[in-house]
This record gives sequence, C-alpha cells and structure tokens, in this order.
Amino acid sequence: MKEIVLPDTIPLLPIVDPWEQQDAEGPDSTKVYQFYKNLSEGKLTMQRCKKCGNVFYPPQAMCKYCNSTEYEWEEIPKTGEIHAFSALLLGFPMIIENFAPFVVAVARFGDYPKNGVQIIGIMFDTDYRSLKIGDRVEWEIMRIKGPGEKVRYWYCFRKV
Ligand SMILES: [Zn+2]
Repeated sequence: MKEIVLPDTIPLLPIVDPWEQQDAEGPDSTKVYQFYKNLSEGKLTMQRCKKCGNVFYPPQAMCKYCNSTEYEWEEIPKTGEIHAFSALLLGFPMIIENFAPFVVAVARFGDYPKNGVQIIGIMFDTDYRSLKIGDRVEWEIMRIKGPGEKVRYWYCFRKV
C-alpha cells in the first residue's frame, strides 16, 4: 500500500482538513462517512441510487439526478482509462512538496457515464512523458500518516 507521511509542524485548518466532519454522528456530519470507512477497508466506492439506478461520484448526501437519499455503496471497477492528465512539476504548496513532482489524471472507470464514474487522482512515481490518453490505470488505496498519529486513507492511481 502506498503511504505518505505528513509533517507534524504544520497544523491544518478545518477547511483544509475536514476529516473530523466525516463522522457519521457528529453535528457537522456530511452523511458520507461510509465512503471514508470503505476507503479504510481498502475499497474505493461510488453511490448507486436505489430510485433511478444512476451512479455518482464524488460522495454526496443525495442522488445528483433525482435527489433521492436512498442509495447504496458500490466498489468502483478496479481498472479504468485515462481521459486527461497534467503534471505538477513546480510551485507546490507546503506539505505536498515532498511528494512532487506528480501527475494528476482524470480517469473513467466502468461504463461512464451511465454505469461508471469519472474521477481525478494523483499518480506518484510516474513520468508524464510516458503517459497517453487511453492508458489503463487502476486505483490503489493510499495511507496518509500525520500530522502526529493521525491516519487517514485516500486513493491514487497507478499505470497498469
Ligand atoms: Zn437517483
């Protein structure tokens, strides 16, 4: 599993670090706690509306097509296709400068848009000159350690 470690010296503002707000029962609950729980269990998920059957991403409290709040979580197909990408080579904000340079890619997973999703993800250790539109990528769960003992999970892409 890919792991990145954040330095202890920079406290993150709530607007930059909304992690605590994902709590299922908290007063500021975003209703998407299950998404983060799924990440921690190794699954990158999208939502499928129980009313209209459409899938959507990023996680949200209601279906973006019919506003229903009835949905289920479904694992995003492991392998997708690059639709667009860019490379960040300089001018990084603090914290992520340690992991730069990297590629940011937009990839489509599943039968987009009817039965699949388009998502954006970082590709570490990837030379942008080796990529082209249509390349196959897969998502990988990433562990983010820090600041301090805090551990969270997110995802990144890697070329297959
Ligand atoms: Zn719907």
